Amino acid sequence: MILASWRSLAWIIRRADVVLEVVDARDPISTRSRRLERMVTSLQKKLIIVINKTDLIPREVAEKWKRIFEDQGYRTVYMAARDHKGTRVLRRAIRDVVETYPAIVAVTGFPKTGKSTIINALKGRHSASTSPIPGSPGYTTHAQLYRIGENLYMIDTPGVIPVEGGPLEAVLRGRPPEQLRDPVRPAVMLLERALKYNPRAVKDAYGIDETDPYKILELIAIKRGWKYKSDGEPLIEEAARTVIRDYHTGKLLFYVPPEEYMLRRGQHSARRTR
Ligand code: GDP
Repeated sequence: MILASWRSLAWIIRRADVVLEVVDARDPISTRSRRLERMVTSLQKKLIIVINKTDLIPREVAEKWKRIFEDQGYRTVYMAARDHKGTRVLRRAIRDVVETYPAIVAVTGFPKTGKSTIINALKGRHSASTSPIPGSPGYTTHAQLYRIGENLYMIDTPGVIPVEGGPLEAVLRGRPPEQLRDPVRPAVMLLERALKYNPRAVKDAYGIDETDPYKILELIAIKRGWKYKSDGEPLIEEAARTVIRDYHTGKLLFYVPPEEYMLRRGQHSARRTR
């Protein structure tokens, strides 16, 4: 069992030379962690931001996000790890930041951003495990080092960033619906976002033409025959869990446009300079 804690994350980062921070292309800002970035910088490790799941967004949007992160001083790549796209670009970026060999890479990020998929992609054909690193806290087995190239190794255990934040953030950051006390509130927020950023999202995913999030949950429950045994009312909690799961899998599809983030930042800095 992997325990997501800042302590185990720090343990992994300390042992690495290069740290990959994997973010979700659909919402890179909500799935980045400033705290992780500060930790990596203060431990004097190299950081690469990896925008993953770019198969779910248009290419020009991926390019824009890349530029935004680069303008903030971060080396950034984007990829679609599940489709084996971008691994070569990622390898090149790793080589570019390494100063002394042998070097060790660690893959970190919030749950569900695609860390394991990226780890497998990097392992590729040379997946021979080498020396175990003993004493890793929070892990039942020791972390292993894998050779991923000439004088290049990877810590085989993903560094999971603990999920913090409000209900919507928790969902965006990969918390599964089973772990939510109230799935309805974040599902409603998710649907509001979906309707805002992709007016077709709900229709495409569920065949429902409706703009009230609560009504959408009701209709999903009715369509699937989910109702309370007591009074026969639609079981919207189950519909909410489905909506959250469908966001994670990409069935309910929308993405945050970079322009929105740039606008917000612009307003923020304008306020500060006033
Ligand atoms: P982890 O929790 O960060 O290790 O994430 P996983 O590697 O287990 O991936 C979480 C989910 O995202 C899985 O269902 C993956 O198949 C999916 N996933 C990973 N990479 C991609 C990608 O590039 N595109 C899409 N669409 N899904 C991906």
